[in-house]
Amino acid sequence: MSLSADISSFRRLFALPAGVIYLDGNSLGALPQATPDAVQRTVVNEWGVGLIRSWNTADWVNAPRRCGDKIARLIGAAPGEVIACDSTSVNLFKALLTALQLQREQQHRRVIISDIDNFPTDLYIAQGIRALLAERHLELRFVKRKQMQETIAAEGARTVVVMLTQVDYRTGERYDMAGVTQQVQAQGALMLWDLAHSTCAFPVALNACNADLAVGCTYKYVNGGPGAPAFIYAARRHLDRLDATNAMAPLSGWFAHAAPFVFDPQFQVSRGIERFAVGTPPILQFAALEAALDLWLQVDLEAVRTASVALCEHFIAEVENRCAGFGLALATPRDAARRGSQVSFRHLEGYAIMQALIARGVIGDFRAPDILRFGFTPLYVTADDVIAAAGHLREVMLQAEYTRPEFRARSKVT
Ligand SMILES: *Cc1c(COP(=O)(O)O)cnc(C)c1O
Repeated sequence: MSLSADISSFRRLFALPAGVIYLDGNSLGALPQATPDAVQRTVVNEWGVGLIRSWNTADWVNAPRRCGDKIARLIGAAPGEVIACDSTSVNLFKALLTALQLQREQQHRRVIISDIDNFPTDLYIAQGIRALLAERHLELRFVKRKQMQETIAAEGARTVVVMLTQVDYRTGERYDMAGVTQQVQAQGALMLWDLAHSTCAFPVALNACNADLAVGCTYKYVNGGPGAPAFIYAARRHLDRLDATNAMAPLSGWFAHAAPFVFDPQFQVSRGIERFAVGTPPILQFAALEAALDLWLQVDLEAVRTASVALCEHFIAEVENRCAGFGLALATPRDAARRGSQVSFRHLEGYAIMQALIARGVIGDFRAPDILRFGFTPLYVTADDVIAAAGHLREVMLQAEYTRPEFRARSKVT
């Protein structure tokens, strides 16, 4: 299949409401035109007519592996190294337990390192594992990004795994995947990458970076739909070792069994990536996810990156030009090589400013305490959108629209 470098041709493949400039594809990707039909087909034909037969006749049972192999192509992994399943949070649990299994002979390794500004669920899962495995005496080192290198240097030899999200969800700052992985592995520790804000935002090269483990999310840049199945990756060398040692599945549900339909009371772990499956896959969500993945497989991610950098540079320049003096401070690195596909500004009135923007049809989001976040998804966001969004931001600031009471009341989801 030839990949299209002409990114603008993809916009018509998305259903976007008129009058909306959507700069939140980093939180919930837009709806691909193909998705409603795909879901409808799955509901009406496969469920309604095929009924239980569709597990085989529509190949429902292989959806997690099939989608995993498609995701693998988007993140620089090989077939059989990725499975789509569960949520990112659950997959983090499985990935951390797997790191502990892989380091089983290294009981002196006690430390899990992460970034204190990592997405909270990542940090919460690590805290849960430390509490559950109290006898393993794990120690958590959550440090600021600027202390990461020195922490790995100082603690690496006692470390089980370093767990980082490649792109910071607040600032959009990006870790150097190859460099950090190498530093971690030189100390004998394992590297776990969270690709929540990387997958389909820019090219990811897990195997070229010699990554050990990874997880990621498919409802953000991938456009898989709200609550779409997440994924987990393990390098082939680790899968082979886990198989060779007959290591237990990290969450031993029946879909991780070597032969689930034998209904053996004795658990026997599946070979390969299927050790990470747990229970019955959500087939309606998979229908939406697969429609999005099939679109992505026609896209050249290098071209997406080029377009994303251009949109982000343009937005920064427009906002700094038009909104000078309003107290908006760029929170994202100026160097494009050090960021993902979002631009963030800090402002003490960030929440109300974003509400005022949303009322004007410019949808971004707010992250506590003071971050206005704008995601750039070149398949459906254009340079005209960037100019219009910056113009609306100027109006919100100029007219102090954010002081209106209706923009100050906080909803449950920000
Ligand atoms: C979005 C995001 C998640 C989401 O986890 P869920 O289990 O899908 O709710 C996890 N980690 C990071 C870094 C994220 O950005």
